[in-house]
Amino acid sequence: MKPVVFPGSFDPVTNGHLDLIKRARAIFGAVVVVVLHNPQKQTKFTVQERVSLLKEALRAEENITLDSAEGLLADYMKTHGYTTVVRGLRSAHDWNQERTQVYFNKRFNPALETVFLPADEKYQFISSSAVKEAVAAGGDVCDLVPPCVADVLKK
Ligand code: ADP
Repeated sequence: MKPVVFPGSFDPVTNGHLDLIKRARAIFGAVVVVVLHNPQKQTKFTVQERVSLLKEALRAEENITLDSAEGLLADYMKTHGYTTVVRGLRSAHDWNQERTQVYFNKRFNPALETVFLPADEKYQFISSSAVKEAVAAGGDVCDLVPPCVADVLKK
């Protein structure tokens, strides 16, 4: 079985992302986590910083590799011979955004399939932006992100 690709901004990685990555590995055997560089989106962390945080958070995990990409996800998938993308769904709002992405992925790469995993109940309210907002307002997010991210956000 080919590895499944889990693409995203990961700005920064949260415990919700980590849960999804591990669940995807349990189904597909191996996961390639791809940090996407989207010049239209302003991020707190650079692509390199986001990759290093993921690397640290997933240090002990097997069958999970990291990569980064810019441009169309559909092209990245074609170039690397991957066929399946996994994404998480926390709410109807996520689904509304994902629908457009699914359409564009198919348009540019008809062989590409997207599989959705529902967010675990424990993590459904966690997002990278909520974490950043909470930290900016002085909140403690230690139980929402891996320790390496909590350390960086404290600084
Ligand atoms: P993007 O900007 O591409 O949506 P994110 O880093 O916000 O990037 O999310 C990457 C993927 O992880 C998306 O499919 C998103 O739905 C999923 N995700 C984000 N937070 C969680 C969470 N708490 N639980 C499960 N999936 C999540």
